[in-house]
Amino acid sequence: MKRLGIMGGTFDPIHYGHLVTAEEARGRFELDKVVFVPSGKPPHKKGYPVTQARHRYLMTILAVATNPYFEVSRLEIERKGYSYTVDTVSHFYETSPKDCEIFFITGADAILEILTWKNVEALLGETKFIAATRPGIDLKHLDAVVAQLPAHGSNAIYPLEVPAMAISSTDIRKRVKEDRSIKYLLPEATEQYIYKNRLYLENGIS
Ligand code: NAP
Repeated sequence: MKRLGIMGGTFDPIHYGHLVTAEEARGRFELDKVVFVPSGKPPHKKGYPVTQARHRYLMTILAVATNPYFEVSRLEIERKGYSYTVDTVSHFYETSPKDCEIFFITGADAILEILTWKNVEALLGETKFIAATRPGIDLKHLDAVVAQLPAHGSNAIYPLEVPAMAISSTDIRKRVKEDRSIKYLLPEATEQYIYKNRLYLENGIS
């Protein structure tokens, strides 16, 4: 394996926007495999309730089951303390062949904050980022962030337009709470998991 995609996100819950993003990135960047890594304890969500990691992990497993190029990692949910991307990427470099190239895929809104991430210099030196956006989104904010990156990082961020990113986890959680349909926004197995485990009803996560 030479080109590995790491799909980072809270996945609360995972939906078709995430799945289409990963598949599009796989094709466009000729990735051999995409590993979904649900966040354990997101450092930027201190004070915000997030669904238990085991539920987010199992929903992700159910969602990717039919794609032979997709896998799910328990790395961040098993690691103690906050989930920093630099630690995750280091782990995958250590456990991959020497010449493997890593592409970290996530939402452009998350990438806009990259200058605040732990060890950003080291991260940009070794990893390429694929920033998923919706068509029509003005990329000037992302361009402004790229302009502030250290020289070696200025070629490290690739925007990727994904129409299905109009779907959002926030909207799905709101719909469940309001007893509105979430059909066709996420895989059916994940939808049924949400109902069976009574997620997003009364636990304060919105
Ligand atoms: P977020 O703030 O919850 O999400 C920001 C936006 O990006 C939302 O619109 C979200 O849509 C979208 N998004 C999130 N993951 C995506 C994905 N894989 N593909 C496409 N769109 C995605 O971001 P987050 O999920 O918590 O964090 C994203 C990743 O950045 C995680 O892996 C996290 O660990 C990493 N991160 C690292 C640091 C650090 O190392 N210090 C700091 C912040 C974030 P939905 O809500 O619909 O998903």
